[in-house]
Amino acid sequence: MSYINKIFISNNFILWDYMENDIAINYVKRIGKHIKVNYVESWNNSVQNTSPCQSLYKHIKFCFKQDFHLIKLPEPLRVHVTKFRTLDYRFPIQNGRYESTAREERLCRLCDAQVVGDELYFVLECQNVRLTELISQYISPYYSQSPSIDKLSELFCNNG
Ligand SMILES: [Zn+2]
Repeated sequence: MSYINKIFISNNFILWDYMENDIAINYVKRIGKHIKVNYVESWNNSVQNTSPCQSLYKHIKFCFKQDFHLIKLPEPLRVHVTKFRTLDYRFPIQNGRYESTAREERLCRLCDAQVVGDELYFVLECQNVRLTELISQYISPYYSQSPSIDKLSELFCNNG
């Protein structure tokens, strides 16, 4: 009860002690909607403005719901794609965040290009021999010819 009371008070619903049961049910529904709206708004704000989401995630995640195309993937692949989409990997761009390395110094370690190792670079641009073999094997040349964040977004949104 005190947890619910805290939620009510933190959302400016302070009349809990005076409500009848049926009123409380409606109130709980309204509060639930209010909390959900606030959470989704906070999530949207976070996706659009936090540093980790700037390189890829904000370009592929447009609304707060499960992405339909992920459901279609076999589970092992879905896990890898989801990890990639949610920055759960060890690219220099991500590791550098935890090591307090300046963004421009988070360089690709698979080649000598001295380029920031972000998602776009690894998936569509890096010239590492093994990586280019994988890219040519699994990704249409359309994406790696003149690569861009729009093409990477298209690839991960599976809209094309
Ligand atoms: Zn590279």
